[in-house]
Amino acid sequence: MPFSRPKVDVDLRPYFGDEAAFHTNKELIVLHETVSFNRPGVLDIKNPAAFMDGRQLEVHGFIDAEGHSGWCFDPRAVYDHAASGSGRVNTRSIGFELVSEIPMLRPGLRFQTWWKRRKQLVRVAQWIAYLHFDQGIPVRYSDGTRPGVTTHWQVSETYLGGHGHWDCWPKHFPGGYFPALFVIRKAQQLVQKAKKQ
Ligand SMILES: [Zn+2]
Repeated sequence: MPFSRPKVDVDLRPYFGDEAAFHTNKELIVLHETVSFNRPGVLDIKNPAAFMDGRQLEVHGFIDAEGHSGWCFDPRAVYDHAASGSGRVNTRSIGFELVSEIPMLRPGLRFQTWWKRRKQLVRVAQWIAYLHFDQGIPVRYSDGTRPGVTTHWQVSETYLGGHGHWDCWPKHFPGGYFPALFVIRKAQQLVQKAKKQ
């Protein structure tokens, strides 16, 4: 393994461990925002994990603004995080919730607030690089129809005609604010560096 797994601060197995519908090889990563508040420590991961668990939802990972990570230790698990009808996105993807109150800010502040959250953005890139080596997921932006990295907004656009969720709306689309391409470029740099070692 040329790229080691980022440190896991919260084991998500107590929340989601026995809830995989089944197991599959994955080709996509879907980025979400929790729309909940960052707090010092890891309660800002544990609380939304418990909230999702109580609603029969699951996700593979969490990352907060301090760079803390939650992980399920089961990337092949099929979890319920990005319903997409015929797109079968849950079957094909690994989901990450980014702890984020940014969607509650007024639109003009959203991008600049994300842009300053380097610890969180870089941690996302590290997980993408790790999963590239561990699960063979390509490090490139995807609209959800082909292998790569996508977002919940994008999946809703592609498969639900925009009538779905709009978390992690990428900056490179009109109305967007999440620096998805920055995260992917950073992950590509980490992969290149690891391959040279
Ligand atoms: Zn979402």
